[in-house]
Amino acid sequence: MKLILLGPPGAGKGTQADYLQKKLGICKLSTGDMLRAAVASGSAIGLKAKDIMAKGQLVSDDIMITLIRERIDQSDCKPGFILDGFPRTLTQAEALDATLSVLGKHLDRVIELQVDDKKLIERITGRFSCAKCGAGYHDLFKQPKQAGICDQCGHTTFSRRDDDKAETVIKRLEAYHRQTAPLLPYYRQKSVLSSVDGMADIAEVTRQINRALELDKKIMENG
Ligand code: AMP
Repeated sequence: MKLILLGPPGAGKGTQADYLQKKLGICKLSTGDMLRAAVASGSAIGLKAKDIMAKGQLVSDDIMITLIRERIDQSDCKPGFILDGFPRTLTQAEALDATLSVLGKHLDRVIELQVDDKKLIERITGRFSCAKCGAGYHDLFKQPKQAGICDQCGHTTFSRRDDDKAETVIKRLEAYHRQTAPLLPYYRQKSVLSSVDGMADIAEVTRQINRALELDKKIMENG
């Protein structure tokens, strides 16, 4: 299955992509994660992306398209993939279509997570993660069970993304509305778009995604 999770920053794409990756056994391609790894490693792409990301702007289409093209052609993505954070512009969407058509593949579904901007700012500015295993937490909604200790690996240092500061989040939301939201009519017209209520709690969003993918039906059929 080849899926796109579309939605503004903080809509919950990463959380749902993790769930779908486990459920469907397909690879998760998060361009944000790929870029953060590139920045951390000091690679040529990382050096180009660092300042742009810190300003809440979009990295160039050329870089992003090359990154994704190389990745979806690798063997672990043959059974399918979930794209989280790509495409973010019409140029990227068209390049993805062209790449898939060369590979003889097609998109199965694009899931839009709808969340209003006010909620997003609250969600993003409160999030932090374990510096060792990356497990995600939130000041208001999901503190570690024991203060200061990661639930998953027991590590005691946590980090916050540089671009999760309120002023940068506003820039990222502007970029979403200006450059990424036009993808909604693009995919609607191709009859592959399903929208879910990203304001609901995580389990309910997952249920709505499952319904959109008819996963529930397949799971029941397979026992
Ligand atoms: P994310 O983790 O998806 O919120 O992405 C973090 C940042 O990485 C974004 O604010 C952009 O600067 C950059 N980025 C991630 N994916 C893309 C993309 N598909 N196109 C352009 N920039 C991207």
